[in-house]
Amino acid sequence: MPEHDGHFDTDLDGAEIDRLGRPLHDLRISVTDRCNFRCHYCMPKEVFGSDFEFIQRDEILSFEEIERIARITADLGVRKFRLTGGEPLLRADLPTLVEMLANIPDTEIALTTNATLLASQVDRLASAGLDRITVSLDSINDAVFREMNDMDFPVAMVLEGIDAASKAGLGPIKINAVVRKGINDHTLIDLARHFRGSEHIVRFIEFMDVGTTNGWRLDEVLPASDLVALIDAEFPLESIAPQYEGEVAKRYRYRDGDGEIGFITSVTQSFCSSCSRARISADGRLYTCLFAVEGSDLRARLRDATSDEELRTFLSSIWRERSDRYSELRSKATGDLEGLPRVEMSYIGG
Ligand code: SAM
Ligand code: SF4
Ligand code: SF4
Repeated sequence: MPEHDGHFDTDLDGAEIDRLGRPLHDLRISVTDRCNFRCHYCMPKEVFGSDFEFIQRDEILSFEEIERIARITADLGVRKFRLTGGEPLLRADLPTLVEMLANIPDTEIALTTNATLLASQVDRLASAGLDRITVSLDSINDAVFREMNDMDFPVAMVLEGIDAASKAGLGPIKINAVVRKGINDHTLIDLARHFRGSEHIVRFIEFMDVGTTNGWRLDEVLPASDLVALIDAEFPLESIAPQYEGEVAKRYRYRDGDGEIGFITSVTQSFCSSCSRARISADGRLYTCLFAVEGSDLRARLRDATSDEELRTFLSSIWRERSDRYSELRSKATGDLEGLPRVEMSYIGG
C-alpha cells in the first residue's frame, strides 16, 4: 500500500484512497435481501419470519442502475465486483447482470452463494462472464447443516452446485464455513477432509457480530488460532504468503501437498488496515464498512437528474472521507461500540 500523508488522493494505479491510505478496490453488490435459508447467525427465523418486511420491488436497484454505479466505481479504482445478498441466485435473470458487468474493462466478477440454485444456473453464469465463485457451506454433516440453515436444505444439494460449477470451469471454488463453538466445530475436520486433495479451498470464518438480530456472543467465537491448531493436529499445515495485499484469509497448505486451506480472523485479528471494500445494498445504499450504521443514498441520485460526473464526485468524496475500522476498534474497546444500531448481513451482503 502506498505511503499516505494526506496529500495524495489516488494510489499508484489511480484508485481513490481513503483517510487511512486504503485504495478502493472491491465493490460488493447485494442484488436481493431475500434468502431461501434462515441461517441463525444471519437471518434468524424469529426476526426474518413471514411478517418481515423485505425491500419492495420498486425500491430494488435495476440492473441498469447497478451497472451505472459499477462503471463509475471502476473509474475510481474498483477491480472486482462481488455479487451477493441475501441469496443472489434468487434474483431473476442474474446472468444478464453478469453480462453487463463483464463489459466493464479491467474488472473481474465473483459470486457468493449458498449454491442451492447453482447447478441449474451455473452454465449461463459462466458463459455470461462470471470469473469466480465462493460457496458457503458450514458443515459437511447433513444433520448439522440442515439445522444451521434452518430450512432443512441437505448438504448434497450444495455439493451438486459445487460440482456443476467446477464442470463449468469456475474452479477452484472457495468454500466458506462460519464457525460457531458448540454448533459446528466438531464437524470442521470432516469438512477439511472432504475437500482435501480436491482443487477447492475451504476457509473457516470466525462468527462475527454483524447486525443486531443474531444473538452474537464472544464466547461462541472459536479463535482462528485454535482452529489452525485443531486442523494442524489432524493434517499438518504450514503457512503460505498472501496472494495479494489486503487478502483477508490467512493461507496455509497441507504439508503432504494435498492443497490449501484458509482462516478468516474477522474477530481476533482485524484486517481493517488493508480493507479496500465498498458495499451497496439491494436498495442502493453505499456502505464503506460492514459495521456501518448508515449508508449513503445512491438510489435517489440514480433516479433524479444527477449526471455521471456528479455521481463520480459524490462516490469519490465518500471514499476519500472514509476512516472506518470497526474491527480494530472492537478489539481495543468493545464497550463504546455496543448497542449501536447496525445493518444486517443479509441486507448488506457480507
Ligand atoms: N447467501 C449467500 C451465502 O450465504 O453465501 C451470500 C450472502 S451471505 C450474507 C455472505 C456470507 O456472509 C456467507 O458466507 C455467510 O456465511 C457470511 N455470514 C453471514 N453472517 C455472518 C456472521 N454473523 N459472521 C460471519 N459470517 C457471516
Ligand atoms: Fe442466506 Fe447467506 Fe444469510 Fe445464510 S448467510 S441466511 S444463506 S444470506
Ligand atoms: Fe473493513 Fe469495516 Fe471489516 Fe474493518 S470492520 S475490515 S473497515 S468492513
